[in-house]
Amino acid sequence: AAAREALARLVLDVPDFPEPGILFKDITPLLGDPAGFAAVIAALADVGRDGDGTVVVDKVVGMEARGFILAAPVALALGVGFVPVRKVGRLPRATHAVSYALEYAVATLEVHQDGIAPGERVLLVDDVLATGGTLQATVDLVEACGGTATAAAMLMELSFLPGRQAIGDLPLTALMTV
Ligand code: IMP
Repeated sequence: AAAREALARLVLDVPDFPEPGILFKDITPLLGDPAGFAAVIAALADVGRDGDGTVVVDKVVGMEARGFILAAPVALALGVGFVPVRKVGRLPRATHAVSYALEYAVATLEVHQDGIAPGERVLLVDDVLATGGTLQATVDLVEACGGTATAAAMLMELSFLPGRQAIGDLPLTALMTV
């Protein structure tokens, strides 16, 4: 409840950013509010626990760039490692790469091959689920490492886009639906 209240109050709608016709969700006021930030991290971390409070994931993956801000404290809260998924060309050692279609372009994401060990259970954390392309590419990267994406935790789901259909049967928790 505290997380939902913080999201409703501290995520701002910015029309026509980064281009005309896009209504951008700006989370920076939320990040600047320590109680609100703590509440959303606690709620996202709960997605990595079962009903008894047992941690049921081995790694938390965050997607560049806003996903990093959320996934790293979630990993610390759960007591597991954080793994960055980055845009192409930024990780220095051997990677797996996955490309996916954007509206007018192709995006490529990478993960270090040794970032996730075979058999590890992975929680995916990002701020916004839109088309689901970023999330599905990240699932593919986890699987390329031999891991399993067991759940996704997002701040917001844009319900007018087919993000949920794009990710198949991956369990997805969004703290807010807009
Ligand atoms: P998707 O791949 O289309 O699902 O887009 C999700 C990615 O785009 C996430 O990494 C988000 O950070 C980013 N994104 C899409 N729309 C917004 C928005 O309105 N605000 C902030 N980030 C957004």
